[in-house]
Formats: sequence, structure tokens, C-alpha cells
Amino acid sequence: MLLTDALLLDYKRCPRRAFLNVYKNSEERDPERDFLLKLRQESHNHVATVLAEFYPDYQKPQAPHQDWETKAKETEALMQQGVECIYQGALLLSDFQAWDLLSQVGVPTQSERLSLLGTPHLLIKRPGISKFGDWWYSPVSIQLGRRPKPEYKLVAAFYAQLLASIQGVFPTTSEVVLRRQNRYTVDLLEWLPRMRETLKDAVQMLLARREPEVFISRQRCSLCHWYSHCYALAQSQQHLSLVPGVTPNRYEYLQAMGVDSVASLAAACPTNLGETIGREVAAQLKQQAQAIVEQRAIRKYNGFLDIRQTIPTTRIELYFDIEAEPERNLDYLLGILLVDRQANSEHFYPFLAENPEDEGLIWQQFVAVVSAYEDAPIHYRNQLHRKHSTLYLYYKMNPNVMLYVSVRPRPNHR
Ligand code: SF4
Repeated sequence: MLLTDALLLDYKRCPRRAFLNVYKNSEERDPERDFLLKLRQESHNHVATVLAEFYPDYQKPQAPHQDWETKAKETEALMQQGVECIYQGALLLSDFQAWDLLSQVGVPTQSERLSLLGTPHLLIKRPGISKFGDWWYSPVSIQLGRRPKPEYKLVAAFYAQLLASIQGVFPTTSEVVLRRQNRYTVDLLEWLPRMRETLKDAVQMLLARREPEVFISRQRCSLCHWYSHCYALAQSQQHLSLVPGVTPNRYEYLQAMGVDSVASLAAACPTNLGETIGREVAAQLKQQAQAIVEQRAIRKYNGFLDIRQTIPTTRIELYFDIEAEPERNLDYLLGILLVDRQANSEHFYPFLAENPEDEGLIWQQFVAVVSAYEDAPIHYRNQLHRKHSTLYLYYKMNPNVMLYVSVRPRPNHR
């Protein structure tokens, strides 16, 4: 088995994804989404910019990416020569070395062949002593995110660990170059132990061929290439994660109460449920489950307040929603439903930024429409939060606008 940095990252995001990547036929994957293709291109451009600005004189191994064994040998040869900067190198621990490392992190040696592979963007030569001479190498990853996410740190620590085995000395730094060329140095004292735990768990799960349970989570699964596969399985199992609002914590509570399918949630006693997960949450989850089982829309539970009494009706009303990519500080879809009660008509305006650069354009389109209906109230169902910058900004600029924000009930953390 080959355990790569990408597989470790997949395990961190979703253990099931790592399992399916290794053991499922890759033809069952969903085709690559346009959004991911664009993201990959953006990442590629970012790497090219960083290289041109900071590391123009790199050298790199010549073997193709798939031939990682040859590539790893070429990388080690470049390190042996003392090349200042190596781009697209491969750090490989094959069977004996890999098991040696894994036994140090608590995985008993087994007969299965195993290799560990890391492909940091760069290896940078530093002064000091290693098996190569009076120099050693430290890894640099180039990432598109604005913040140093935990997964970046995990992978940076993985590179440091592989390098230690290859050059005979631990690098004292492992760096991440983020968006806008911001640099972040990973705290290896903190992240090496965390990475080893994750590595140990991943190897043990994969070697034991323990398939993790499916759990559909909108945020985590929506861009995953196994989504169709997992969704079909979840449907066949009537899995509780299909009910919006069932988080992993709530799932555990529900299971402990013997509620283990959408149908059993729809039929559950709300009083008993409420004692464990809170009355309002229980009522909402039960209604969601009923809507799925009965395949019909059910008007949402509002607690004790009938929301209709708090919202004025006028001839023209605007209903607003937004889709954003918080990690990239990007509002890419602004939707306005214009309801004309007198004409008994509705018109939907979807302002979509096909590229991040179009964000300004859709903002102008949004402003043009809402400004044309100055007396129309804008309804928005969510927290009016700074991250939803479009509506927030518009409200700040036009404090007289009638803005009705219905806030979601707070999640119950019990
Ligand atoms: S679809 Fe979701 S549960 Fe399935 S592998 Fe992907 S992230 Fe994991």
C-alpha cells in the first residue's frame, strides 16, 4: 500500500474518503467538478507566482509524477549534490524504512508491503549537519488558503518527518506559503505528535480494511468525488445524516436513544427527544424527517412565534439569499426573489460570479435591482453577520432600507 500526503489529507477530512480512495474502483467516482478544476488552475498559478518571485533558480527531478520511485531517487541525488532549491521533489520511505517509522508511532510491523510518500512543493537547503554533509533541507508547501489551516500544518509535519528519515536529521522548520505570499512557520513541536496520531489511525484503519460509516455532511461532502456513491448508500440505509440539522453529536444522541433511521426520527416522541437535544431542535428535526418520509413540504416550526405576524407585506417584496466561499472571502452568488403581490408574479435574479474577479460586477447588479425598489422590504433568513458582507454592506450604506432578518435558532450544544 502507498500512503501519500494526499491520502493522509483525505483521511483527516473524512476517513471514509481515504478508505474509498484505496479500496473502491476509481471509475465509481463522480467526474471532476468545474469549481475544483478552476481551483486547481488557481493553485497552479499561485505556485508559479511564488516560484517566479522567490525561487526562480530551482532544479527539479525529471521523472514523471507517476514514477515516484525514480523521482524519489532523483530527489535524493539532488539533495546529495547540495542543490539550493528543489521543486517537485519526492520523499519516499519504502517498506523497511516505512515500517521502522510506523513502529515508532505505535503501529506493530505487519507483513503487508507499505510505502510512505510526500511531495512538498519545495525543499530548501540550510546550513547544518546531515548525512549529506554540512547542509540539510527543510520543506516548503505553497497553499491557496489565506489562513494556515490544520490540514496544511499536518502535511507540513508529515514532510518534516519523512525528511528526518531521509537526511538523518529533523528539519527545524517546515514552512507554508499562503495566498498573497504570506509565510507561516509550522510549530513542529505541536504538530509532529498530532500528525503521528493521525498517521497511526489512518494506517490501522486502512490495513484492517475497516470501512467507516457513511455520514452525509453538506459542508464536507458537497465537493467530494464520492458524493453520489455515499449519497446512494445513505439513502438505501435511510441514514439519519440525510436529515438537515443532524450533526455528528446529535447523531450520537439519537442513536443512544434508539433512533437510527429517518423513519424512526419521523415517528419519535418529541417530548423524549426534547429532553436530550432540546425542545426546539427536536421539533425541527422531527419535522424535517417527516417531510422526507412523506415527501412533501411542511411549513417550518417557529417555536412560539408566528413569523408572519412580524413581517409586513407590501406590494413589492425582495427575498434575498447568498452563497459564499468564506475561506476565500468570496460572495459568488447573490439571489433576489422579487415578489409582486399586486400582479401576483415572481421574478428571480440570480447574480453569479463565474470567476472571483466578477464579485464586484454582481455587487453592482445587486445594487441596481434593490435600488430600483427603494420602498420594498428585503427579507433574509439568517444571521446578519459580517461574513455575509454583501447585504451587510448594502444595509450600512442605506440604513433606511427595510431589512427583515429572521434568525435561525441557536444550535443546541448539549
Ligand atoms: S461523500 Fe462525504 S462521507 Fe462520502 S467519502 Fe466523501 S466526504 Fe466522506
